[in-house]
Amino acid sequence: MGLLDSIKDAGIVGAGGAGFPTHVKLDCRVEYMLVNAAECEPLLATDKHIMNSHPDEVLEGLRAVAEHVGAGHTFIAVKAVNEKETFSMKDAIGRSGFRAEVFPLDNYYPAGDEQMIVYDITGRTVPPSGIPLEVGAVVSNVATMWNVSEALRGRPVTHKFLTVTGEVARPAVLKVPIGTPFTDCIAFCGGVRTEPFKIIDGGPMMGAVSDGSDVNSKYVTKTTSGIIVIPAAGNFDSRTHDTAIRKILNRAKSACIQCSFCTDLCPRRLIGHKLRPNMVMRCMSAMDFESPIPDSPILEEALICCECGVCETYACPMSLSPRQVNKYIKGRYAGRKYKRPDEPLIPVPAREYRKIAPSRIMARMGMYDMYGNKVRDFAEFTPARVRIPLKQHIGAPAKPLVEAGDRVSAGQRIADADGHVSANIHASVDGVVTEVGSAIEIKADA
Ligand code: SF4
Ligand code: SF4
Repeated sequence: MGLLDSIKDAGIVGAGGAGFPTHVKLDCRVEYMLVNAAECEPLLATDKHIMNSHPDEVLEGLRAVAEHVGAGHTFIAVKAVNEKETFSMKDAIGRSGFRAEVFPLDNYYPAGDEQMIVYDITGRTVPPSGIPLEVGAVVSNVATMWNVSEALRGRPVTHKFLTVTGEVARPAVLKVPIGTPFTDCIAFCGGVRTEPFKIIDGGPMMGAVSDGSDVNSKYVTKTTSGIIVIPAAGNFDSRTHDTAIRKILNRAKSACIQCSFCTDLCPRRLIGHKLRPNMVMRCMSAMDFESPIPDSPILEEALICCECGVCETYACPMSLSPRQVNKYIKGRYAGRKYKRPDEPLIPVPAREYRKIAPSRIMARMGMYDMYGNKVRDFAEFTPARVRIPLKQHIGAPAKPLVEAGDRVSAGQRIADADGHVSANIHASVDGVVTEVGSAIEIKADA
């Protein structure tokens, strides 16, 4: 079986982002194979754990992938401040004899945005609304490389590494079966330390915030990188989660002073994209909430916003939310394609001086105390039941192969990829299927 078939068979999707099927992404030939090991979301320690505990497996996966895509240059992008992880990966490279290099990233947010990684390593700007392939590169997460090494041994994706931190008694990196309830992960880490609370699914910058009461309906998927418990008030994420878009737009109308700090610090702007959140804010402030969004080359710039959040968490002195406004415009423009301007992409020379330290962002967000609590523990456990969604990836949901009452074993395929852009799903525990709907629920053997 070829590498791509093994990857597809194993149901691998991007472990660090939206879940793009890896067999589709790697069906290419490129000059640069880049591993995203930046872990740029503050508070998370998942990728660091993988680099420290499984460096040889990461390298094994990387070697197979780099050879497959014919890369002349192979880099693992690690922040230079992460000295232990840098040493671990360099040591593994030395043992393997494989020609790869560790690239020392600066400690800024969002160093792990794949377009930043491509720019920092190659000096090339991925075109707006484009992908790294357009400049001869492919970027994969370090956890995806670990999954590839597992696939080379015939083992599909059944487990996930994730960080559980914030207001829990014992923050830890966990390795749990896919489909594990969030409540079990939090309980395993000693339970919630604050009431009322909210949950972030992912990192504090780009993760999805929900009320604590929603935690019972959340389960670990192939893309879950972290679970962060935060107080329900008194920090940026809780405030934004509670603010309606109408209020956000009204505030923009009345309080935007057009200082353009949001544009000056926008990471995509700094690598040369024509993205000017201050101009988008100005345009939106002239409009009624209910009126249709007009055709406008300025408003269309919102389509190339990666929603990193630098503008609203750090840049804006008036506590406005250009990111939420961009997100709103994207929703209203649903289906519209961004028209690339016929202009050269010119990075901003001052970029080097406008990189923002994660600690500064955390301080602005009212989460600096959590930033200081480094996650060092690691644990594994198996829950009493798992609920495995048929759609954990970009593309079509998988088609179930089992019915309620079937006995399954860990690693058994329980749903087939539905077409090329889709992914197989496997049982993550031994047990009995209790429900098949938009997800497959399995009661684990005692
Ligand atoms: S969220 Fe703000 S800073 Fe980030 S890309 Fe969008 S406009 Fe730029
Ligand atoms: S930083 Fe804030 S106040 Fe300044 S232009 Fe941007 S949205 Fe307006």
